[in-house]
Amino acid sequence: MSIEDKNFEQAVESFRGQMSGRVEERVLMKRYTTFRIGGLCELMVFPKETSELMSVIEYCEKHGLPWRVIGRGSNLLVIDEGLNEVVINVQEGLNRFEQRAEELVWAEAGIKLNRLVKLCSDIGLAGIEFCAGIPGTLGGALRMNAGAEGKEISDLVNWIEFYRYPEGRFIRKRQELRFEYRELHLNPKEVILSAELKLVKDKPENIRERIKRNLKHRRETQPVAYPSAGSVFKNPPGGYAGKLIEELGLKGMRIGDAQISELHGNFIINRGRAKAKEVLELIKIIQERVQREKGINLELEIELWEKR
Ligand SMILES: Cc1cc2nc3c(=O)[nH]c(=O)nc-3n(C[C@H](O)[C@H](O)[C@H](O)COP(=O)(O)OP(=O)(O)OC[C@H]3O[C@@H](n4cnc5c(N)ncnc54)[C@H](O)[C@@H]3O)c2cc1C
Repeated sequence: MSIEDKNFEQAVESFRGQMSGRVEERVLMKRYTTFRIGGLCELMVFPKETSELMSVIEYCEKHGLPWRVIGRGSNLLVIDEGLNEVVINVQEGLNRFEQRAEELVWAEAGIKLNRLVKLCSDIGLAGIEFCAGIPGTLGGALRMNAGAEGKEISDLVNWIEFYRYPEGRFIRKRQELRFEYRELHLNPKEVILSAELKLVKDKPENIRERIKRNLKHRRETQPVAYPSAGSVFKNPPGGYAGKLIEELGLKGMRIGDAQISELHGNFIINRGRAKAKEVLELIKIIQERVQREKGINLELEIELWEKR
């Protein structure tokens, strides 16, 4: 038994002793990514409360165990060889929601965006409809500065609460946060616990109408019937990655079960048993062709999770 195996075994015992949430060993990451791709991870924990999340991180930090946080895994490509670390899954707990003032809501990081959009529309609060159909959590959306239709989640943020070991919990106001296109700059040890969002009043029926329109538009323009991780590349300044890929005739290209969507050039879909390796081969082909023929460097929007 290696030192690492022993460390993980001790961690399992400790987490099971102190958490009410699930603790699972040797979990297939493909079960927790929307791409349905990813090898085994040593340990996945599902904290039910912020206090459990914090004690897991504290344990990992004190015992030198690497860890990461996952929401709904909808922006991730996890390698086939898997991960040698503790993955902290916030999507089953940490999903409380409150209306804090007439136009202010607060929600925990694990809440699903679709649920958040619905809860807001039910109380007549608008502005977050562009998130309808984005299959992530609030925490993941903040970390990625998720956006659609020219809007970004950063537009709504009043403040975000974080946890970092050993400092503890702290709040950063909007003006202290560094948001960019599809990114919130964070120290890798900082975890988003919750956020307060500023919305605007509108009639629930108007909001629902916009949500319906947005979802219809997604169904018409994105390959929602297949597993994917959304847009693979960030749009380059002044252009669209999907359009460049289409212009090069790459739509429909397939390696194994990974295929560049015929509907949207910036999506790679999993047609069954796609491997991360196949997706990475397609990514390489796209990047090389776009660089060679258009002189543009396409940057990844999806995050690649490899062994560290
Ligand atoms: C069909 C489809 C459509 C999509 N459409 C869009 C779109 O229109 N616009 C868009 O922007 N994106 C889109 N995406 C991508 C993705 O859904 C978003 O980026 C989403 O916000 C990611 O949330 P998540 O919970 O799945 O994060 P994950 O994929 O689980 O994680 C993404 C990153 O966030 C970090 N993270 C997650 N939770 C926390 C936390 N609590 N604290 C700190 N870090 C955290 C993770 O460690 C990781 O680095 C789409 C994806 C799919 C599959």
